[in-house]
Amino acid sequence: MRIPLVDLASQQAEIADEVRAGLDEVFASGAFVGGPQVACFEQEYAGFIGVRHCVGVANGTDALELALRVAGVGPGGEVILPANTFVATAEAVSRLGARPVLVDVDDEHLLIDPAQVERAVTRRTQAIVPVHLYGQVAPMERLAPIAAAAGVPLVEDAAQAQGARRHDQPAGGIGLLAATSFYPGKNLGAAGDAGAVTTDDPELAHRVRVLAAHGSPTKYVHDEIGVNSRLDTVQAVVLRAKLARLARWNDARRRLAARYGELLADVPGVRLPVEAEGNTHVWHLYVVRVEDRDRLLGELAEAGVGAGVHYPTPVHLTGAYACLRRGPGSFPVTEEAAGRLLSLPLHPHLTCEQQDHVVASLVHALHGTA
Ligand SMILES: *Cc1c(COP(=O)(O)O)cnc(C)c1O
Repeated sequence: MRIPLVDLASQQAEIADEVRAGLDEVFASGAFVGGPQVACFEQEYAGFIGVRHCVGVANGTDALELALRVAGVGPGGEVILPANTFVATAEAVSRLGARPVLVDVDDEHLLIDPAQVERAVTRRTQAIVPVHLYGQVAPMERLAPIAAAAGVPLVEDAAQAQGARRHDQPAGGIGLLAATSFYPGKNLGAAGDAGAVTTDDPELAHRVRVLAAHGSPTKYVHDEIGVNSRLDTVQAVVLRAKLARLARWNDARRRLAARYGELLADVPGVRLPVEAEGNTHVWHLYVVRVEDRDRLLGELAEAGVGAGVHYPTPVHLTGAYACLRRGPGSFPVTEEAAGRLLSLPLHPHLTCEQQDHVVASLVHALHGTA
């Protein structure tokens, strides 16, 4: 039995007919950039999240960069973000000429720690970026007063949390703006790169749209130096088909996560992920913590189980961010977790039989018996 970490083929099988019909239309029309498919997807995604505006862009990192730029981040500024995240969160800040200021996460949920955010605020702080890591929303209600006191916006990194909620507020609709990614493996994934910025503010949405199209509000008028970062029409077709199924797919993830919780509850040596109170987790990743992680990863691979690690190297310990001069020991929770994190296969098409095999293989690797 081979069990992949993500199963894009099964997603494709569900949507194949719809995608083929949509693509035939796009290719027949020759409209490959923009057009009704993109506009419809933006509207449908905004509706799904529960925000007023969605602007499709080329990928999640661009979405973050553009959201931060219109939120006022620029050269010489500082942006506070968690050390336990995908490197793109920091990259977007760096690309604007600002400095990522990392803080540690809380040990229970591995989400940005508000107490440390508060201590990291300086006169140069321009924004705070909570990352809704693994599929659950960061403690926004605790970050909001800190951001307000500092006079800076919250810009959400919602790349892993499409459909997640906290106290009934949606990921991607709580901060001033939010960025998301439709990288294929995300809960809502395209057939290539894609991303979006969401916000309730019509002017900020307009500014993102203009900047993403060469700083051009109308053809051949360029008031600002922009970028080329548009959502492909072909991707919009795929995303519309998958968005129609996302609520159901997220429900399946929640059921499977609960089942992992039951199956693994009494297995010694496995620390289970915890859904924070008030959160509706969408389980982009099911991340347990174990000792001797790399050996287990190898044995799981031999048993056909495609487990992963998100992420093995915290941002400050990457070569790219040696420039921050935060060496080992700077963020103990993130660093300790990085050696133990193990993402088990969890996707909407995982069967109970496959899940049983994952658990049996893990138990065998841990304790030598199944
Ligand atoms: C995927 C991801 C991104 C970046 O998205 P891309 O589309 O790959 O540029 C940013 N932040 C987080 C937390 C992500 O998981």
